[in-house]
Amino acid sequence: MSDAGARAAELRSLLQRAAHEYYVLDRPSLPDAEYDRRFRELQELERADPALRTADSPTQRVGAAPADAFAKHEHLVPMGSLANAFDDAEVDAWRERAIKVAGDVVDRDGYSAELKIDGAAISLTYRDGVLVTGATRGNGRVGEVVTDNLRTIPTIPLRLMGSTHPRHVEVRGEVYFPFSAFESLNAKRVAAGEPVFANPRNSAAGSLRQLDPGVTAGRPLRFFGYAVALPGDKPFARTQTELLDTLAAWGIPIAPHRRRCATLAEAHAHAHHVEHELRAQLDFGIDGLVIKVEATAVQRELGDVGGREPRWAIARKFAADIAETRLLAIHVNVGRTGKINPYAELEPVEVGGTTVRFATLHNFDLIAEKDLRVGDIVMIKRAGDVIPQVIGPVPEKRDAANPPPPTAIPRQCPACGSAVRDEEKDLFCENDFCEGQRLEAIVHFASRGAMDIDGLNYARIEQFLQAGLISDVADLFSLERARIATLDRFAEKSAESLVAAIAASKQRPLSRLLFGLSIRHVGQEAAAALARRFGTMSALAAASRDEIESVHGIGPAIADSVTSWFGNERMRALVTRLEAAGVRMDEPVGAATTTELAGKTVVITGTLAGLSRNDAKALVVGAGGKVTDSVSKATSFLVAGAEAGSKLDKARALGVEVIDEAELLRRVGKA
Ligand code: NAD
Repeated sequence: MSDAGARAAELRSLLQRAAHEYYVLDRPSLPDAEYDRRFRELQELERADPALRTADSPTQRVGAAPADAFAKHEHLVPMGSLANAFDDAEVDAWRERAIKVAGDVVDRDGYSAELKIDGAAISLTYRDGVLVTGATRGNGRVGEVVTDNLRTIPTIPLRLMGSTHPRHVEVRGEVYFPFSAFESLNAKRVAAGEPVFANPRNSAAGSLRQLDPGVTAGRPLRFFGYAVALPGDKPFARTQTELLDTLAAWGIPIAPHRRRCATLAEAHAHAHHVEHELRAQLDFGIDGLVIKVEATAVQRELGDVGGREPRWAIARKFAADIAETRLLAIHVNVGRTGKINPYAELEPVEVGGTTVRFATLHNFDLIAEKDLRVGDIVMIKRAGDVIPQVIGPVPEKRDAANPPPPTAIPRQCPACGSAVRDEEKDLFCENDFCEGQRLEAIVHFASRGAMDIDGLNYARIEQFLQAGLISDVADLFSLERARIATLDRFAEKSAESLVAAIAASKQRPLSRLLFGLSIRHVGQEAAAALARRFGTMSALAAASRDEIESVHGIGPAIADSVTSWFGNERMRALVTRLEAAGVRMDEPVGAATTTELAGKTVVITGTLAGLSRNDAKALVVGAGGKVTDSVSKATSFLVAGAEAGSKLDKARALGVEVIDEAELLRRVGKA
């Protein structure tokens, strides 16, 4: 066999195994970028010598054969894959190829640019507007029937809205796992001693292919639609934009940030904007932008290549958000409640468009479970604005002859040397006044959700601790203007405003003070519930454990932790000093502090996929927030839907936080 023939055979077998792990087992062992690189290499070899193109080559097929455990669904029109482009020039070359086939009409109506959702492709069959079958893509021609599982996804309409839908129609789209839900599901799995999921894409696919819909129902999946198929492949809609608008009118959720572009140059600009600015703010994974020829008549003229990839669309892929690198060291820091947080120092690596040097390791239980060792090659993930994470080691890349030693679990607090306590999956420093905790605890006390002390940031607190001006939160209230003004990077004026901001915070209600004190398990909602029920700090301190546990929303873990906090003499002394400093110790009646949105000023812009503007407003107001029309420095955050314009620009210019619809739903407790 020629060298090229041998290499092609090797690539085929490697890609076939990877595709089986990815599509059938939902457990890939290769990063996507590496799969894509090898896939391309095989495509190049086959292009240079078509004799190498065997019928079973991964380049000739889509997905994997449907598993026997499921009933089969034959798609009305095959569900294909997409050709990839990795930069502007490759997208331009795609257009050139299309023009060669169909002529200049390719440009006539422009292009539709849509987020490429990194989930699992499905098709939904509606008859007379009612969902009758839901299926996976399978091998493109035949998929697996997973109707009952898809019915558990709340945003998939069981009945289409309006009366304009055809009597028989397949709606195609992507099922995905929102990051926020994925992270909390993994946290629950760790707590239950179950293995964590590797990434949202594969767990979305895996969750869909469950034989028990009860399992799927426990996974908060979501759906975005992007295509339609009709019997006999009849045409539908005049343009891709019209198609998406029609789907939205039927009640199908459409991904935000789609754009109709008059030219490819506009699509390039949108791709750069999405990759470098928007991507980090999304609560779901995207791996690129799909660029489609707008006019459906031209799409039909272009057709597809080998039944696998349409000529009228291209996936413009982004930098991978999963990469491999070496684990150089495991460090720890101590959180505000004494929790010992291990994190990884990595050989710097480019992931999702930025260089990553550090990643969270969550806890030592996870390190042991994944058997992570310093010196290992590890897979890391950076998704959205989630902190980079180590997915796990790549065992076959470990030096088998000379493996690194297993990671030891610390027995002492790395900051103060005190003993550590093992609780659930985490380690805690036993010393309530540990140096390591202090900084984080004071930073938290001053933060916006707690005492909201304007200007008291991380760097300043560190500076005060180092100068010996403070050692706990009560000391903040005796800071003197004149003394602060002598410190580096301070002047009379800044010292004065900081002291004034600290004094102003004395009026914060009890709920914020309780949250600010870093009592274990006491988040904003628990603090608000306790403040409402007991009214004053002294009543709470005098309450029994059972009385505390009887409060709605307070479980045994919180009750234990609050009782033991007030049982600690040093903590009681801290409260006495805060009170003596004039800090308010009660809760004003009717204070709306129940949710993350309480007291927040919110602006909504653009088109939200699943909510009308009025519904979104009602949700914010119902959660204690306020909605205003224009963005200013006083805006807490902007909710940006599709086609967001000048308000989004202004929010960016002012550094106002921008969130999407999914995150809004989370903050109001609806997701
Ligand atoms: P793809 O994911 O590259 O692109 C096609 C798919 O994009 C469509 O089927 C559709 O599901 C999806 N899509 C998302 N948003 C869309 C939109 N707005 N419009 C149209 N389609 C949209 O192709 P694929 O065939 O599904 O999978 C191949 C990819 O899967 C590879 O590029 C690789 O990254 C990954 N893969 C990885 C491994 C591995 O071992 N890591 C193995 C096999 C495949």
